[in-house]
Amino acid sequence: METHEINKRFLEHFERNGHTRVPSASLILDDPTLLFVNAGMVQFKPYFLGEAPPPYPRATSIQKCVRTGDIDEVGKTTRHNTFFQMAGNFSFGDYFKEGAISFAWDFITKSQADGGLGLDPSRIWATVYEHDAETTALWRKATDIPESRIQLRGADDNYWDMGVPGPGGPCSEIYYDRGPEHGRDGGPAMDEDRYLEIWNLVFMQDVRGDVSPKKGGPVLGSLPKKNIDTGMGVERVAYLLQGVENVYETDLVRPVIAKAEEFSGRRYGTDHADDVRFRVIADHARSGVMLIGDGVTPGNEARGYVLRRLLRRIVRSVRLLGVHEPVLPEFAAVVRDAMAPSYPEIARDFDRISEVMRVEEEAFLATLTSGVRIFDLAAEETKKAGGNVLAGDRAFQLHDTYGFPIDLTLEMASEQGLEVDEAGFRTLMEEQRQRAKADAAARKKGHGDLSVYRELLERHGETDFLGYTDLQASAKVI
Ligand code: ATP
Ligand code: MG
Ligand code: MG
Ligand code: MG
Repeated sequence: METHEINKRFLEHFERNGHTRVPSASLILDDPTLLFVNAGMVQFKPYFLGEAPPPYPRATSIQKCVRTGDIDEVGKTTRHNTFFQMAGNFSFGDYFKEGAISFAWDFITKSQADGGLGLDPSRIWATVYEHDAETTALWRKATDIPESRIQLRGADDNYWDMGVPGPGGPCSEIYYDRGPEHGRDGGPAMDEDRYLEIWNLVFMQDVRGDVSPKKGGPVLGSLPKKNIDTGMGVERVAYLLQGVENVYETDLVRPVIAKAEEFSGRRYGTDHADDVRFRVIADHARSGVMLIGDGVTPGNEARGYVLRRLLRRIVRSVRLLGVHEPVLPEFAAVVRDAMAPSYPEIARDFDRISEVMRVEEEAFLATLTSGVRIFDLAAEETKKAGGNVLAGDRAFQLHDTYGFPIDLTLEMASEQGLEVDEAGFRTLMEEQRQRAKADAAARKKGHGDLSVYRELLERHGETDFLGYTDLQASAKVI
């Protein structure tokens, strides 16, 4: 079943059950706690927090999500994209646990002929918060799942809150057993590679204080209106239904792997290290297109930095596959063709998206070769001197002169068994930031980095950028 079909069925299922279909919000919302939208509930937060009256009691959406915190997992696990689609159903003080459980169960187990996903019910597992006996009872009442496939888990896994005092509640997650050839017996608590998490049902019922139940604190009381927030990973379900091995091989991602095979003359599925590179390329190309589509441009701060890091990781992975020519606009075109049926704005805005990629790639390629040479020299010197830590000023030089994001330097260093003096690097970055600030105030104009984009900005105008100055602080909450 194609990904678009899964999305369509999901929305139709919940519409049939009285939910209002709400379009995906942009990846960029004006929410100071988030760099990017990372879950379906984000656009509904004001209703959950009681800051605005919900215009409907039930809603359903397919939300574009970016989780930069998962970047290091990409290509290595079977299940982590940086960009993915979260299908969700939401209740604002309307139905609660039993409704959420039976809607989800119906959808995944109903036959494909009847509009469901047709997953084999005997492979479904559920996890429940250990202090939430009510939910275990409801699973037993509303579905035919046996008790032996309901697993109790602690607050770390199965209690949700926003990291601040306010609403919180237990969750119950749905897993699919991929079979003994994929790992150990014993349910999700034993092996999350074999038991694939596909759906998280969050039951917002508690008012919590400063210390979350996650950290051992008490629940202060009950919410007057209880809410439901769920998220099903569309790419994960697609990977199960398409009979492939991971999210990168699904219909909307795999075409980029095919393009990279064409460029490199290497075949996916023959060498583990290359396969990880193919998957990183395919995942990041899609995230890049979707982020630029929502107005992010590469830069050295916050969102722009994440985008830059994604694009530069593609360029580097492609080189490790033996390709030295520019590739990003071509990958972008493949992503457009895959994604446009669901996201027509990507096709409409494609010239700009492709141009942003072209300019970023050109700028990076111009310095990559010399940067790699400088890095190799520095690595060699470090080893010769008997050390295993690359100096902070070398990392800074690579960043400042050759445009190497620190993560790239970290990755290259770890490939050579070296560490990097990150604290030293950050001190130099901070000094530079202060200098740039003073310069900017003096000259009242943007910093040097923008010169690369001047041509582009003139042609397409400025895109909205709600920059944060402190990436660390913002990134932590993702
Ligand atoms: P995992 O434990 O596998 O990292 P999670 O518990 O972090 O997933 P949730 O925050 O519960 O995920 O998000 C709801 C659903 O979104 C998950 O059940 C999963 O199906 C999907 N999902 C989460 N992260 C990703 C990702 N990086 N790529 C693809 N799908 C994802
Ligand atoms: Mg996760
Ligand atoms: Mg999880
Ligand atoms: Mg989860």
